[in-house]
Amino acid sequence: MTMQVRARVANTSARRFCGRWAGLDLSPMLHESVYSVLSRFAQRNALDFKTLRAALQVHVSGRREDSFYESSLPIERALNGLTGWNWASHEARLESVSAVLAGSVWSPVLRHCPVCLEAGLHCAWYQCELLSVCPFHGCELVTRCQTCGAPSREYGFSSALFGDAYACWSCRGPVAGAGFDMKEHLEIRSTTPLINARLHRVQRWFEAAVDRCGWLQQLAHRQSKSVMPAGYTRRLLRHAMLAVHPWMDDLTCDEHITILTWDVLTSDPVRRSPDVPSWRRDWSHHEQTQRVYRATLRVLRTAIDAEVGGVDSDLALDLAGRFVPGRFDLHSYVLAYFLLRFFFERTSRFDWRSDHVSLSREPIATGYIGDRVSRRCVRAFVLAAYAGILGFVQRARARGDLTLDSLRADIDALVCYCIDRHKGADCGFVIFPDVPWLPTEGLRAEGPAPLRSFERLLATYLEGRSRQEVFINTRNLRRHVC
Ligand SMILES: [Zn+2]
Ligand SMILES: [Zn+2]
Repeated sequence: MTMQVRARVANTSARRFCGRWAGLDLSPMLHESVYSVLSRFAQRNALDFKTLRAALQVHVSGRREDSFYESSLPIERALNGLTGWNWASHEARLESVSAVLAGSVWSPVLRHCPVCLEAGLHCAWYQCELLSVCPFHGCELVTRCQTCGAPSREYGFSSALFGDAYACWSCRGPVAGAGFDMKEHLEIRSTTPLINARLHRVQRWFEAAVDRCGWLQQLAHRQSKSVMPAGYTRRLLRHAMLAVHPWMDDLTCDEHITILTWDVLTSDPVRRSPDVPSWRRDWSHHEQTQRVYRATLRVLRTAIDAEVGGVDSDLALDLAGRFVPGRFDLHSYVLAYFLLRFFFERTSRFDWRSDHVSLSREPIATGYIGDRVSRRCVRAFVLAAYAGILGFVQRARARGDLTLDSLRADIDALVCYCIDRHKGADCGFVIFPDVPWLPTEGLRAEGPAPLRSFERLLATYLEGRSRQEVFINTRNLRRHVC
């Protein structure tokens, strides 16, 4: 294959491109990552990022799509084309659940074992934050340059990681603390059976994730819209994923997280409204939803009242401006209650005792929730929204800037949820950090209950997937709707 690529002349030992690529004998090892395979190819051919990109003819946008979790397939194809290898990267194989993994356990930045990397090996699984040490060397997997200590850069195809093969984006010295050593590389290659044996279970765990966690994609994709901090949704998604797909033999999950689930038979078959070319629905105008919302506010008020030791019954709050009035006397629980009402009702004056409520369609219409949902579902959403807003209030008060702008969002940006309505069943869950006194009776999933509920969602997802694929293909909808 003829390529018009000029090799970088960095020093006298640098190889020039002369029609045949170097390092073809060093084909990818079984567990190697895209970063590892690409780095070695660049190193053997003395390619910097520009020449590497030209050789692969891969377009780089500098955005999230350049993450190896999102777009390894074009790189894999291009490299196979250049080298004649028949390499299949793990990152590309996992692309169907990449949003779930990237949003929960895949490290956003390069994570490596310095000893392995010195020998030119980085395994795809080292990116998993659940794996704390290298299975061969016992070293901690690190996210810093071992020469200068600079934090690792995003795990993707970028000039930061490929400016010089194996070099640091900051000090230009070796990321592993010592430069690539061919002798060590050949040595580590000779231990391939041992490496494969040690990483076999890790690989199997990831492969099973493709089957078991696909239905969490809807939650993972909404993360990009979230008004909550990235770490908040990451923690929730990780908990949900590990509840349904435990890490190896480790059944422990983050204990300070609440999951509310429901699984209700409904008399309504699922209706897709013909005028809305997506799965977006409006449940605000339904009488039942309004009633459940009002009733949930009532029990919430009672619980807050008991928790803070009595709230002044004449208390009112005006939220007409951009900023929340500096009422430092207001307890966070009470303020979160008013902001919850602001979020759902979008009016400006709220009285503590008032039972007059009116849901606005604005925050609700955009959610993939369904046009008519069960009482339990509505209650779970309102409580989850409250927990989210309470966290928001506590963080904003600590920072000293409490504006209403973030709360002019839609429900997808505030509540972490999965939901499915299929064949007359309404099932799903919401997930949020614990608020111990929250009135969640009858909804709280404890012990094996979350797993059962997830299994139900998983079954619904698998059952509905083929139907939805047909629907998606014919309507040319977004790629990731579940
Ligand atoms: Zn290692
Ligand atoms: Zn450095």
